[in-house]
Amino acid sequence: MVAFGLVRTVLSQSVCYLSKYAVSSMPCEMKPRFVLLYGSQKGQAQSIAEGVAEVAEEHGLVAELSCLDQNEKYNLEKENAPVVFIVSTTGDGEPPDNALQFVKRIKKKTLSTDHYKHLCYALLALGDTNYANFCNCGKTIERHLQELGAKQFYATGYADDGVGLEVVVDPWLDGLWTAIKVALSKMASDRTSYLKGEEEDSPKETPDSSIPDVQLNLLSIADRQNSESVRASVETVSTSASAASATQTAVSDLRPASPAGILGLASQSRGAASGSTSALGTQTKDAGLPHVALMASLTRSLPPLCESSLNVPALPPPYLDVSLQEVDTVEQIVGPLSEEALLEVPISRAVQLTRGDSVKTALLLELDVSAYPTMTYQPGDSFDVICPNRATEVEDMLHRLGLHDQRNHRVHISLRKDTKKKGALVPPYIPQNISLMYLLTWCLEIRSVPKKAFLRALVEHAGDGVQRRRLQELCSKQGAADYNLYVRDLSLGVLELLTAFPSCSPPLSLLIEHLPKLQPRPYSAASSCLRHPGKLHFVFNVVEFPACSGRPAGKRGLCTGWLFDLINPVLVFPGGAESSGRTPLPKIHVSLRPNCSFRPPSDLSLPFIMVGPGTGVAPFIGFLQQRQKERQQNPEATFGETWLFFGCRHRDRDYLFREELEGFVSSGTLSHLQVCFSRDDREEEGALEATNSAGRRRYVQHNLLLNSQYITDILLKQNGYLYVCGDAKNMAKDVNDTLVEMIRTELQVDQLEAMKKLAGLREEKRYLQDIWG
Ligand code: FAD
Repeated sequence: MVAFGLVRTVLSQSVCYLSKYAVSSMPCEMKPRFVLLYGSQKGQAQSIAEGVAEVAEEHGLVAELSCLDQNEKYNLEKENAPVVFIVSTTGDGEPPDNALQFVKRIKKKTLSTDHYKHLCYALLALGDTNYANFCNCGKTIERHLQELGAKQFYATGYADDGVGLEVVVDPWLDGLWTAIKVALSKMASDRTSYLKGEEEDSPKETPDSSIPDVQLNLLSIADRQNSESVRASVETVSTSASAASATQTAVSDLRPASPAGILGLASQSRGAASGSTSALGTQTKDAGLPHVALMASLTRSLPPLCESSLNVPALPPPYLDVSLQEVDTVEQIVGPLSEEALLEVPISRAVQLTRGDSVKTALLLELDVSAYPTMTYQPGDSFDVICPNRATEVEDMLHRLGLHDQRNHRVHISLRKDTKKKGALVPPYIPQNISLMYLLTWCLEIRSVPKKAFLRALVEHAGDGVQRRRLQELCSKQGAADYNLYVRDLSLGVLELLTAFPSCSPPLSLLIEHLPKLQPRPYSAASSCLRHPGKLHFVFNVVEFPACSGRPAGKRGLCTGWLFDLINPVLVFPGGAESSGRTPLPKIHVSLRPNCSFRPPSDLSLPFIMVGPGTGVAPFIGFLQQRQKERQQNPEATFGETWLFFGCRHRDRDYLFREELEGFVSSGTLSHLQVCFSRDDREEEGALEATNSAGRRRYVQHNLLLNSQYITDILLKQNGYLYVCGDAKNMAKDVNDTLVEMIRTELQVDQLEAMKKLAGLREEKRYLQDIWG
């Protein structure tokens, strides 16, 4: 699987941890210090760490904040203060780029087992159970710290972006301050004892008994198998948290401005929805009043939330000064400016792979990379597509900010001299001398879901009291469920929020401070250079976001929607004629991202299994094209068996690459093609095994199970490989669970043993995933 930089994860959702609640009144002539280190790929761990640093003073402490790659700023070899690590995991369990060197350093075999004997640490690990190796970077750091003698002073938090980081992060942060203070006083008394010469006599502490713990709902790898129950328990957590919040004493001054103003009928339904901040509909039953169905929405809350006192995050300190300068000559930059190795390549062919009545639209694009001999890729590699923000959305944003007339002005960004933000930087991904239009088109992910810190900052720019209150609710602890329901889960962007809250007029600087860098979108190569020299194919589904509360009309995914519009004039439909060649071919910017592990086995005699439903089949088309060529070039060689498990909804609507796959079977390149049709199969009489006869839909994992004996044989006895590609949220997890089950049955072991066996295959890189979603 590929780096989360690509994300695979991508911790898209928002949590803000800037607040926090307790205010300690430690007298502060000299505040005790602690070291705060983060490793962050997409900014989530960094934002949590910055939040901790910002509120440290309120707790009577000084946080020395550094990124793990700023090794000139900290020295763990000599550190005698508590150290707090906040680290995310990327890709297939790899450290974020800015933690790589640190992890390498602490892994060195030459370090002695007491290298960090003096160190006391706490660790918050961020991950996503939708992906393999949950929180692996945090776990790796922890393991090595402990092997080097460091002592934990606070139980590690494993936060899962798959269910909402805040479920673990919030209580972990709540308990952190006391833990640091306990650690500080313990370290001070240890030092005193040492000075008094008592060290040798003191019994060594057993770390576990002395570590403050909090009920964190710690999610571990084992929880992956129980994703449903995890989700259920999280829902319970948020509901009960909301219920509890209703009775909580106010800790902020944010009392309801005018809930009735939001609801109109708030008082009638008091108590009706108790315990739920986000009831979708409530029947009021007060005598004399008509029964009115109240609906919560993005802009409207129900009791108890609308009547509750709120704990909102601290206001993130502004840190940028932004000015717009009129310039005589405006350089019209039409493409991305980037230091990365971008290549501009023409799209030479575009084919719609699905029929018009298919639920999803899958497209195949062929890029002509012949002008770039360096662009030699291997099956299994992916590459980034650089896409701009949608022109209409940029225009809307310019109007909404009241800056349309200044769209060609040059943007000048500098750090505010008086900023209180620790480690503030002018975003390094924004080039100098660019116009406002360019900034909004190529630099900022204007579609990204605003984090709670951003919502908190927007409150300050909302003129209307009712709207302010709702924004406060959405970023508050009590409104967490509403935030998830109406913002995060619907993937609402800032433009949609500004439309829903018309009185809110943030300055441009706020957008630059809070919107992340516009990310390229990775796609897996769906071809082999051997079969298509000078060409690169890829396949994607056009992502559709339906209309919802806060989004009056549906929209397409940013990159897939942009590509769709771009290639529309040259698009070839199934069974249709090729384009006449008269329409000029659009060009796009791409850069290669090699994946060194997701490759067919180098030993051609080893068998391998590919599991790739839907567009997940993409890399396997490349694998098979390559295998076909290799077979032609080495007629004498022995080739291992190949299996492909493909799935789609309907045989005649969205069976991607059907002809090519059947051709691979005829030529013997593909030994076994197992296809299931989730919406056809259950209707086809006799097509189902007993497990599915109850009408359950049939997916790739069901076909895996039917071939359990062969698969376990290949994996456990023949040293073979298994590759999974496609949807991370459901498919990859279901396949993983099925594999555990198959190994359990085959080896007659318990589930834990089977999981360990599968983890072993993963470590040997014989069970590989390339998943997204
Ligand atoms: P955005 O505007 O970025 O919206 C994406 C959001 O939409 C996500 O947050 C998600 O919640 C939601 N969403 C709904 N449906 C989907 C979906 N089907 N895919 C992703 N997000 C969805 N995609 C392919 O179609 N083919 C590939 O070969 C492919 N290879 C990838 C390889 C790697 C290494 C990675 C990390 C991702 C790959 N993806 C692939 C996903 C791809 O990069 C984009 O995320 C996807 O095309 C959506 O981009 P977008 O800009 O249109 O959507």
